[in-house]
Amino acid sequence: MNNHSVFNFCAGPAALPKPVMQQAQAEFLDWRGLGVSVMEVSHRSSEYQELANKAESDFRELLKISDDYAVLFMHGGATHQFSNLPMCLLSDGQEAEYIVNGVWSSKAAVEATRYGQVNRIDALFKQGSSFSLIDSSDWQRSQSPIYTHYTQNETIEGLRFPQAVKSNGAVVADMSSSILSEVLNIDDYDFIYAGAQKNVGPAGMTIVIVKRQLVEQMDFTRIPRVFNYQLQIEQGSMLNTPPTYTWYLAALVFEWVIANGGVEAMEHSAIEKSQLLYECIDMDDFYTNPVEIQYRSRMNIPFILADSKLNETFLSKAKKAGLIGLKGHRSVGGMRASLYNSMPVDGVKALVDFMLHFKQQNG
Ligand SMILES: *Cc1c(COP(=O)(O)O)cnc(C)c1O
Repeated sequence: MNNHSVFNFCAGPAALPKPVMQQAQAEFLDWRGLGVSVMEVSHRSSEYQELANKAESDFRELLKISDDYAVLFMHGGATHQFSNLPMCLLSDGQEAEYIVNGVWSSKAAVEATRYGQVNRIDALFKQGSSFSLIDSSDWQRSQSPIYTHYTQNETIEGLRFPQAVKSNGAVVADMSSSILSEVLNIDDYDFIYAGAQKNVGPAGMTIVIVKRQLVEQMDFTRIPRVFNYQLQIEQGSMLNTPPTYTWYLAALVFEWVIANGGVEAMEHSAIEKSQLLYECIDMDDFYTNPVEIQYRSRMNIPFILADSKLNETFLSKAKKAGLIGLKGHRSVGGMRASLYNSMPVDGVKALVDFMLHFKQQNG
């Protein structure tokens, strides 16, 4: 074993909590005394069913999800969900509203255009190299959309909606990079989806929280069975073989979040960690974050070096210091540090120390 002190700031697939990985390692070959790995057992076995039920009840407890909502553990990524939903909910002559505040919401909006009218509201305001959100009072809203879709935390731009968006239709939110990092009032939403590989587990699965009433509104007549939310609810997300190992790791992550104080504690820690890093960035012009303060993400924090010629040196020195996954997305440039639940505050402190030292040497 080496590299105990590596801190991984990758945006996704992202770091998982160390204790979760250690438990997975310890029971890798022998799960629950069965003599085989969890990935080698049937998803229909009583042991696996127990795991699945516990995962759902832990997740419901964490986010205080009432029985008005179904929780699904679906195959694939967030991309599958923003493709799957309009296919079931939107048809010719109907309108959906898409608030576009970054790359992911833009991709989601494009998918919906296959099925009905899309009122695309470009809410991202770019001025030079900085981002902000256009005030919602200036959005050209739809009168009666079937639903309004938005991305609660835009992973690439590092931009977060400070509150839930209201709609005359159903509210649909992509929470891939923020789920379990802040307290939610689930009743503000009708459909939430979150890909696992940011805050929940490895890639390959997406969690869906859907209001049962919304499912009744969907039309499944021309939809393949695996994409039919009603059938998935009836079959406990096991219409076909689910991604059992990802689900297992997600279940361990839920237990870890509960053991560490639940979503409130995660939110508290996310505020603390992100403030530490923003304070370092805002000290002077050596580093800048492009997002207007009230919309800054707590999970994904891009920062640009005043002198972009230093980017490669920054990254290679950071890597030597055990700080990895910091390269920014090409559309924003510079660096990006993702501070998901699994990132300990010591990781952020190590990054801040490194950044101060790097500035001293190169400023
Ligand atoms: C990562 C991400 C996606 C895409 O996830 P895939 O698993 O690649 O489909 C969508 N939305 C947000 C907010 C993301 O962070």
